Amino acid sequence: MLDCGTGGHALGEDLMSAGAEGLRGHILISHTHWDHIQGIPFFAPLFVPGNEWDIYGPKGLGQSLREVLAGQMDYAYFPVTLDQCGANIRYHDLVEGTFEIEDIKVSTRYLNHPALTLGYRLEADGVTVVYACDHEPHSNILADGEGEITGHDLQHARFITGADLLIHDAQYTGEEYPAKAGWGHSTLEYAVKLSNEAQVKRLALTHHDPSRDDDALDRLVASAKAKLMKNASPLEVFAAREGHALDLAHAHGKHFPGCVQGDFEAQTLVDGALTDLSVIIGIADLKTGATLFEAVQAEGIHAQFCSDPDAARKLIAENRPSLAILEHDPPSIDGLETCRAIRQQDNDPEHSLPVVIVASEQDQARGISAGVTDWLIKPFTGAYARTKVRAWVLRTACQAMRTLTPERQELRFAQRPLPVEPSRLRPKRAQGARRPTPHTGAENRRFPNDAISTEKAALLWMYCREVAPFETPSFRKKIGQLIAHATNTPAEM
Ligand SMILES: [Zn+2]
Ligand SMILES: [Zn+2]
Repeated sequence: MLDCGTGGHALGEDLMSAGAEGLRGHILISHTHWDHIQGIPFFAPLFVPGNEWDIYGPKGLGQSLREVLAGQMDYAYFPVTLDQCGANIRYHDLVEGTFEIEDIKVSTRYLNHPALTLGYRLEADGVTVVYACDHEPHSNILADGEGEITGHDLQHARFITGADLLIHDAQYTGEEYPAKAGWGHSTLEYAVKLSNEAQVKRLALTHHDPSRDDDALDRLVASAKAKLMKNASPLEVFAAREGHALDLAHAHGKHFPGCVQGDFEAQTLVDGALTDLSVIIGIADLKTGATLFEAVQAEGIHAQFCSDPDAARKLIAENRPSLAILEHDPPSIDGLETCRAIRQQDNDPEHSLPVVIVASEQDQARGISAGVTDWLIKPFTGAYARTKVRAWVLRTACQAMRTLTPERQELRFAQRPLPVEPSRLRPKRAQGARRPTPHTGAENRRFPNDAISTEKAALLWMYCREVAPFETPSFRKKIGQLIAHATNTPAEM
């Protein structure tokens, strides 16, 4: 099962009528927003003793998948708690990677959504099904279905490539999108464009806008079909509907190899490893900086501030952070130029360091040429910022862990979640880049000096938040510089 919204009830009844005893199943949860999990308390097979269910999903902010699911069945909301379900239920926190459910190869990928969300690619019997809901274009110019697919939209297109069936978010239209930017949903035009270019065979549009009725939806599908026909595209598009059954023919002769060496096990426990990571924050705006600082701290990650491009480059060369968050507020602050400078220094064509630009609006054309990975558009909440930070550092951590030694790879493929050794987590260094300054004999204390300065910085940020009502632009700038100074030169403080 992919997610368990209100449809879970009818499916549960169906399975029960076919004989519920000894039923075994797997539920892949994209994220724990209510519309994706509210069917769980009404999914009858979970209440039958002897049944076995595995529930998978990304770990959200601070709580495991099980804790979040149990939360919606707290006694205040529901008479039966999750612990009282009769079936034997196992929970699996996932990250980006691959794993197997019997003969199905499952690949996961983080989607662009205000909550940490996974898309699922399932391969079995020569057939591929991809489920990508809820997801927003990384680049807003693609919302109209026009423009070049680049960066992480291109990665998303690769994730859906060749799917026999793609079930994709298409809540809005390109025309509606500007008012809904940042809500974490796709447009019909984006879903169609990516499917078309990724040679998807059938596209099921879903996550329909609740304010659109069936007739309006039919009209949208008809116009999408007409456009595809005009362009002689073989893509088949339809709107997913309740109770819709679809047979995907077994592709004879087509075989998938399952998980192979080099794939990253999606059930690896990486959370404990985050404490070894660092994030560079180059934000002059006081409130935004404080929000991001708190978001990074909440994930247990070390944050370092920088005040100018040179400082950013120096910190990156020395500490190999997992993420850089830079402000872009033209004409006074040119974060894109800083990003460009980082890319030039890094000599890393794959841009393995994610650079997220904080701005009031996307400047896609300049962003692409500067090597920007992602945008964080103001205003945003602390939880939204934390989700972005979490998705990027988890992705960097998992990519770094792919460079494990062959012996450890073997261990991993023995299907055992791997305890993480902090020293193995450093992102792979670009050739020719300088090594971090060694702290002799203190490998596990990566920032012995900075650890003190980070506390100072935290205190300063907290203090600044108190006095924020009295701030002026020059005060904010001064404080930003002061904090950057404090974090970079602890000896002088
Ligand atoms: Zn959602
Ligand atoms: Zn949703």
